[in-house]
Amino acid sequence: MKNNKFETEAVRTQLERTQYLEHSSPLYLTSSFVFEDAEDMRASFAEEKDRNIYSRYSNPNSSEFIEKVCKMEGAESGFAFASGMAAVFSTFAALLDSGDHIISAKSIFGSTHSLFTQFFPKWNISTSYFDIDNLERVEELVQSNTKVIYAESPTNPGVDILDLEALGIIAKKHGLILIIDNCFASPYLQQPIKFGADLVIHSGTKLMDGQGRVLAGITVGSFELIDKIYRFSRITGPALSPFNAWVLSKSLETLALRVDRHCSNALQLATFLEDHSKVNWVKYPFLKSHPKYELAKKQMKAGGCVVAFEVKGGLEAGKKFFDGIQLLSLSANLGDSRSIVTHPASTTHSKLSAEERESVGISDGMVRVSVGLEHVDDIIRDIEQALG
Ligand SMILES: *Cc1c(COP(=O)(O)O)cnc(C)c1O
Repeated sequence: MKNNKFETEAVRTQLERTQYLEHSSPLYLTSSFVFEDAEDMRASFAEEKDRNIYSRYSNPNSSEFIEKVCKMEGAESGFAFASGMAAVFSTFAALLDSGDHIISAKSIFGSTHSLFTQFFPKWNISTSYFDIDNLERVEELVQSNTKVIYAESPTNPGVDILDLEALGIIAKKHGLILIIDNCFASPYLQQPIKFGADLVIHSGTKLMDGQGRVLAGITVGSFELIDKIYRFSRITGPALSPFNAWVLSKSLETLALRVDRHCSNALQLATFLEDHSKVNWVKYPFLKSHPKYELAKKQMKAGGCVVAFEVKGGLEAGKKFFDGIQLLSLSANLGDSRSIVTHPASTTHSKLSAEERESVGISDGMVRVSVGLEHVDDIIRDIEQALG
């Protein structure tokens, strides 16, 4: 059937059944594929046929995962990677030449920031940064060698919201490729291609798997751009393993259900924290107090799994809070069924200077909670007792 809803495609997008008529997709743990005869082999290598040759290029399990994500994001094509960072790196490496320039939001994932600052300069690729609240600045940063605009929304760990449509208009006007890392929202909550993005990147490690098991990444977008990324990736070898692809495709069957619960738990926790005497501020995109509440409602179906707040009393109070946590996990991941609390200033963002942290909205007492799927009463009870 055509024109199915998101949830239906998530469950029903599936490889063709084999002769065994299995109900659930089998796992194709194979590095290579065989040919019928010499002519089949020649035609396959000449790309006259669309078929699997070697799992560095393509594999049925990866193809199923890619097709699902393409349907979810409204994209034509995609390539699946061994991690989110492999997706980020390979996407840029495939599209950029030496001498090119990137315009990136300031508040981006830490390893992506390190890629721009520590490694791309080696290949003469430079990056300029803009504040997500100052999109006029983006046009001022455009140079003759600019090729890409890069951003995330909601941002990590500050859960700020960026106007994707406005950024899409700027990218189109200047003929730039707009790449959005959509991993915080998941394709269930937000589809950046609708707002003008050319490519969407995900770390499948987060909400897509949602159970903290596998690393994965994916980039989706137009046939033309993905073909460039495919040509680069089939040679350099960042491909996703068939096993992880199989796990992820299964995970996506429950994405909508899981993310709905993540979001309702997160909103309840955020609402609880807003009235708490030991909390200075709370940030969650679907709280009316969020500075971009209206924009979040326009772009996203719900607020996501991450709540940020500041404990009164700075670093010392923050440490006490973390030592008081009993049920939730102290970890750096997010989008897991298990709730996770993180202290960005001393962990994920400790390599930034105090001023850099300040400029992306990370204070010493700031706590980031990735709200999981435990009963919300227990999540709130643990945080309440740790604040006490
Ligand atoms: C985790 C994350 C990545 C990197 O993904 P990995 O799978 O850990 O390599 C990229 N972007 C964002 C926003 C992330 O949260």
